[in-house]
Amino acid sequence: MTPYLLMYIWIESTASDYIAIASRFFNKNFPHPKITLDQRGKCAGTARLQDWHIRLNPVLLHDNPEIFRNEVIPHEIAHLIVFAVWGKVKPHGKEWQSVMQNIFGIPAQTTHSMDISKVRGVTFAYRCRCQTHQLTVRRHRAVVRGDRQYTCRKCGSVLIQLAD
Ligand SMILES: [Zn+2]
Ligand SMILES: [Zn+2]
Repeated sequence: MTPYLLMYIWIESTASDYIAIASRFFNKNFPHPKITLDQRGKCAGTARLQDWHIRLNPVLLHDNPEIFRNEVIPHEIAHLIVFAVWGKVKPHGKEWQSVMQNIFGIPAQTTHSMDISKVRGVTFAYRCRCQTHQLTVRRHRAVVRGDRQYTCRKCGSVLIQLAD
C-alpha cells in the first residue's frame, strides 16, 4: 500500500471514531463526512457544514499526524456535530466547546501548536561571522525564549538575529 493510501485510511478511521462517539452520545446516526486533503495556506482544516465536508491541510498533516488525530480532526468533526444538533450557532461557542470537552474529552482550543513555517514560508534572518542564515519560525522562537542557541557549521560562531 502506498503511504498516501495508508494516510487516507488512517484519517477515515480517526474521523469514524469521533463520529461514533458523538452518535452514541446523541443517540443519533451521524453520517460519515466527506474528507478531502485540499486545505491550503496556514489553516489546518475547515468544515463545510452544509456539505458535511471536512478539508484538511496535507502539508501540515504530513508533519503533524498526532496533532491531527488528537486536535484537528475532532475539532472539525465537532463543528459538523454542532451544526447537525443546534444548527447555525457561534463557531467556537458553548455548544462546540461542550462537544469537544464533554463528549470528545479534548480541551476546547481553537489553535494548534504546529510548526507552520513550511506553509507560511516565513523565515528569520540571522548572521554569524561569515554569512547570513534563515531560521524557521520554530527555531527563531526557541532562540527568543532562550531555549536554544544555533551556531554556524562553517565558522562556529553563534547566530545573532539581524535587526529588522
Ligand atoms: Zn473551528
Ligand atoms: Zn559562519
